Amino acid sequence: MQDCIFCKIIKKEIPCEKVYEDETVLAFLDINPVNLGHTLVVPKKHFENIYDIEENEVTHLIKIAKKISIALKKMGADGTNITINNGKAAGQVIPHFHTHVIPRSVEDNLPLWPAKKPKEGELKEVAKKIISML
Ligand code: 5GP
Ligand code: ZN
Repeated sequence: MQDCIFCKIIKKEIPCEKVYEDETVLAFLDINPVNLGHTLVVPKKHFENIYDIEENEVTHLIKIAKKISIALKKMGADGTNITINNGKAAGQVIPHFHTHVIPRSVEDNLPLWPAKKPKEGELKEVAKKIISML
């Protein structure tokens, strides 16, 4: 896609710190890392997010996210977060599908998502709704 930053990185029109590449995937360091080693794993084909990416593409991409995760662990990370933001409401800024692989340390003190306590019966109700939509 013409005006897509990640498509431009894939076409080498914009430089990046590449850590992995194969026929369908490119992985490079995030320019504004949460922690050093924060990597983005990106399909070479332009998909916007989880709603339109082809299943075989996302399957392969997660395999590569696992590979990067293991590499970060070998480098000393205590854990990793693998996150995918889908849509503006979920914090997606770049509309080209990507997974974040973020190395974590027991001491980095990053905030976790605040959890909400559901009301009586809400979990059962929402589970029923999700099942009906699958
Ligand atoms: P999103 O919020 O869309 O899930 O995440 C987009 C990520 O892309 C952000 O963490 C941001 O720092 C990163 N990013 C944006 N522009 C560039 C760029 O030009 N190069 C690199 N390497 N990362 C970028
Ligand atoms: Zn793109």
